[in-house]
Amino acid sequence: MPWLSSSVLSCSSPPLSAPTPEAQIHAMARESSASASEQWGADELPLILCTDCGLRQVVRRRSKQEWSFGKVFYCCPLHKRDGSGCPFWFWEEDYVVKLRSLGC
Ligand SMILES: [Zn+2]
Repeated sequence: MPWLSSSVLSCSSPPLSAPTPEAQIHAMARESSASASEQWGADELPLILCTDCGLRQVVRRRSKQEWSFGKVFYCCPLHKRDGSGCPFWFWEEDYVVKLRSLGC
């Protein structure tokens, strides 16, 4: 019965239509994770509620120290230089790490 064998052959061969979208999905995932790592522009870091005292929203400042002039940092408004206030104080790059650890 030659017709039977040919029909079995065509059934067992993989479908030729519809290219698998898997490659596209992977490409999209890679793209979205890449943009997530660059989620914030330099001046667009979200200002969170201070995680140390929980009382105030942190503020963005620019250093006026000679050794780090113009460098951006984030601190709690209740932070005191003498250490008596809130300890929340981060350079920008550390603040980013902090945000990441908080799942922002
Ligand atoms: Zn604080």
